[in-house]
Amino acid sequence: MANLIDGRAIAEKVYVDLRRQIAELKSKGVTPGLAVVLVGDNPASRAYVRSKDKMSRELGLHSVKLELPAMTTQSELLSRVEELNRDPAIHGILVQSPPPKQIDEAAIVRALDPRKDVDGFHPVNVAKLVSAAADGFVPCTPLGIQRLLLESKIDISGAHVVILGRSMIVGKPLALLLMQKNKDADATVTVVHSRSRNLEKITRSADILIAAIGRANFVKSEHVRDGAVIVDVGISRVEDATNERGYRLVGDVAFDEVAKKAAAITPVPGGVGPMTIAMLMANTVKACRQVL
Ligand code: NAP
Repeated sequence: MANLIDGRAIAEKVYVDLRRQIAELKSKGVTPGLAVVLVGDNPASRAYVRSKDKMSRELGLHSVKLELPAMTTQSELLSRVEELNRDPAIHGILVQSPPPKQIDEAAIVRALDPRKDVDGFHPVNVAKLVSAAADGFVPCTPLGIQRLLLESKIDISGAHVVILGRSMIVGKPLALLLMQKNKDADATVTVVHSRSRNLEKITRSADILIAAIGRANFVKSEHVRDGAVIVDVGISRVEDATNERGYRLVGDVAFDEVAKKAAAITPVPGGVGPMTIAMLMANTVKACRQVL
């Protein structure tokens, strides 16, 4: 049976280190500030924004939660982003995705000051990830996955990492991060997606298999070789009458059968999710330190 990689416990370790850094910054009279902007009332987005705001407050950051109505125009949102760009008390800005249809999300991301782009989606930060520039911001989920693996003493260097999914949020930046030439990466990376041939053959060759496709229980035991490490990024709701909410969250991996073959596996929830928020906090502290 696989070892369980406990994302909550590893996130707690990250917070211990961040609390120390935040105390040090405060002793110099600086409080890292994070602004989270929510446009509209998508319930999942609202829940994400709430937990980001709650965590910032728990850590003692200056937290600004900006909730804008669903009919907010592109120019109204742009002017709010520009205000936050100019605000010296704000070091990190995040505009929760997805925004309502009238908003051009890419244009909003381009309007962010790249030094405050703690989500790491601005083209300047994408270029910095490609060129492995240390002062760039790496998207939070990929950064959290790397940290999970490192803290779990899983050897990434030289390993064949197969990533299922090629989104700009997870798959693509994760591939760039894990193939970097440094001791925390150095992986041989393969990315598979909905057009890939022989998907199962490729996933079975993975030392580390990372699933980020958003298809509940897609990865079965036949996709996995004995002794592989499995990281499950997916979050899907499946109906569950026994749960008071009427649904439960499941990952992309059929946990019970895959856990029998794997050496280590992340659960959903409690695996990658807590690390994503922890890395948002870490990126905010980094953004603050970099402008001191
Ligand atoms: P996305 O933008 O929808 O991308 C999904 C990717 O999976 C695409 O590249 C797609 O291929 C590929 N794909 C879909 N079905 C496939 C199939 N049957 N076989 C092979 N590849 C397939 O999703 P995302 O934003 O990356 O998110 C993926 C999942 O991770 C979602 O469940 C999301 O909720 C979750 N997530 C979790 C966290 C966290 O903190 N835990 C953070 C971000 C996302 P094509 O490119 O060919 O269409």
